[in-house]
Amino acid sequence: MFKKILVANRGEIALRIQRACQELGIKAVMVYSEADREAKYVKLAEEAVCIGPAPSALSYLNMPAIISAAEVTDAEAIHPGYGFLSENADFAERVEKSGFQFIGPTPESIRIMGDKVSAKQAMIKAGVPCVPGSEGELPDDPVQIRRIAREVGYPVIIKAAGGGGGRGMRVVHTEAALINAVAMTKAEAQSAFGNPSVYMEKFLQNPRHIEIQILADKHKNAVYLGERDCSMQRRHQKIIEEAPAPGVPRKLIERVGDRCVAACKKIGYRGAGTFEFLYEDGEFYFIEMNTRVQVEHPVTEMTTGIDIVRTQIMVAAGERLPFTQRQIEIRGHAIECRVNAEDPYKFVPSPGRITMWHAPGGPGVRVDSHIYTNYFVPPNYDSMVGKIIVHGDTREQALARMRTALGETVVEGINTNIPLHRELMVDAKFMSGGTNIHYLEEWLGHRTR
Ligand code: ADP
Repeated sequence: MFKKILVANRGEIALRIQRACQELGIKAVMVYSEADREAKYVKLAEEAVCIGPAPSALSYLNMPAIISAAEVTDAEAIHPGYGFLSENADFAERVEKSGFQFIGPTPESIRIMGDKVSAKQAMIKAGVPCVPGSEGELPDDPVQIRRIAREVGYPVIIKAAGGGGGRGMRVVHTEAALINAVAMTKAEAQSAFGNPSVYMEKFLQNPRHIEIQILADKHKNAVYLGERDCSMQRRHQKIIEEAPAPGVPRKLIERVGDRCVAACKKIGYRGAGTFEFLYEDGEFYFIEMNTRVQVEHPVTEMTTGIDIVRTQIMVAAGERLPFTQRQIEIRGHAIECRVNAEDPYKFVPSPGRITMWHAPGGPGVRVDSHIYTNYFVPPNYDSMVGKIIVHGDTREQALARMRTALGETVVEGINTNIPLHRELMVDAKFMSGGTNIHYLEEWLGHRTR
């Protein structure tokens, strides 16, 4: 096992990884930007290294600074968390070339999965069902593009091969709008992701977003840990996640889960990963794979009892997965609410000093957050400041626990979206389960205030 790991991230996930290291008896080196000097995990750290000024480009995305921090502290491995450099194949490569273990898949796996076109092609080969669409990158010829769209059937969605974070997508309803939409998405893709390649998919009208968590080791073992429903999204950003997905037949999950595991074995995948699907009319359609730990991993940890971050570290160190598929059991129901520092009605970011923070507690309640009373939320990063996760024997019990937990939570000094979560937890449609990816936006459109 490693003696020392460098945590190349910030916020709640940095704390989450630090906690996992502590449990495993591993020293965690924390890195921080000048804006994160006061972070809880920096204060708790035995060793912490400042890697640059506040802007991410100069700190959390600064590969040489991070690698030198690992060198000067004698770390053996680097955990990239999520976001930032976690899905950057060049970073993974540089980490390994510098003699450190990258806690994640190989640079090749990241590269294949990071390009959505090659990811889809790999999945089709492995027998994973995909959204119908172009057989790869769209050609330049407008005649061919129109033909492909006619075959796929309108409405279609044009997506950037290198896209992420809900950006680089455009829905097209008519042939008249097609060519212009392709050109605009290409231009955006070039400027946002440095890759103009786009592809086409059928735009599913009322899907749910359901994803499968997998874990794989370096010895060709892989398992899936059930699914998560992440359909509650605003602007393609997840806000509430839960496991299991309400009303989806177990047999179907098992079939898709087995295909995901087969795909992992086929591409020699290692570490944690997530296969994201759209689910409509009883069918699963692969959209992309995330080659890292995800924000919503705790709901799976709570329903399986498996520590995903701990397992990531263990398999990176070369250990075998300590469980087989048959030993994995889904127990009860878990829900996560992402707490964002933002106005709960207008959604403008609300950074600043937290004058009071009181976390909820009680049976089945977990809070993953790095904030504390008097903590200053810097304006430079993502607005998520923590996650409230609950577990119950049933979905009803989990919902009741979440209502209690949200009722206990106090954040003063900044705005958060907790009032939004409180409203959603008593919304009849959400409570009945199985809302689609448009539900939250529609709900917000009708909201009175
Ligand atoms: P990103 O990497 O930016 O998150 P994804 O491919 O995962 O992009 O898609 C993000 C979201 O966009 C999905 O959760 C879904 O809400 C919507 N979406 C993507 N592809 C389709 C599609 N073919 N039909 C309908 N909605 C889609």
